[in-house]
Amino acid sequence: VRKSKQRDLVLEIVLRSKEHPTAEDVFSEARKTLPRISLGTVYRNLRLLTDEGQIRSIRFGSEPERFDGFLDVHEHFICKVCGKIYDIEPTLQIPNLPGKLVTDYRLDLIGFCESCSKTHV
Ligand SMILES: [Zn+2]
Ligand SMILES: [Zn+2]
Repeated sequence: VRKSKQRDLVLEIVLRSKEHPTAEDVFSEARKTLPRISLGTVYRNLRLLTDEGQIRSIRFGSEPERFDGFLDVHEHFICKVCGKIYDIEPTLQIPNLPGKLVTDYRLDLIGFCESCSKTHV
C-alpha cells in the first residue's frame, strides 16, 4: 500500500508539471506530501514509471535527466539562457529507411526563449 502511494505521488507530480522536472525537482515536490520519502525512492519510482512507459525520460547533452508526462509525439525547445524547456509540435517527417525500423527519434531545438532573447540577442 505504502509503496504504491509513493509511486502514485511521483507519477502525479510528473504528470502535473509542465516544467519537465528533474528527479530533484520531483523529490522536493514529493516531500511536501510525504515528508519521509527519500531521493532514492523517487529515483526508483521514476525509473519504474519510465520503463512502464507512463512517463518519458529526456536528456539534453550533459544536463541532468528530466522527466516528461506528456507522451504524445512532440519536440523540445530548450532555452540556453534560462534552461526552460518548451513542448513544441513535431516538425520532422521521419524518413523512410529501407530495411530499418525506426522506433524513436529526437529533435532538440536550442536557442533563446522570448524573454531571454530580449536581453541576450
Ligand atoms: Zn530563456
Ligand atoms: Zn515535453
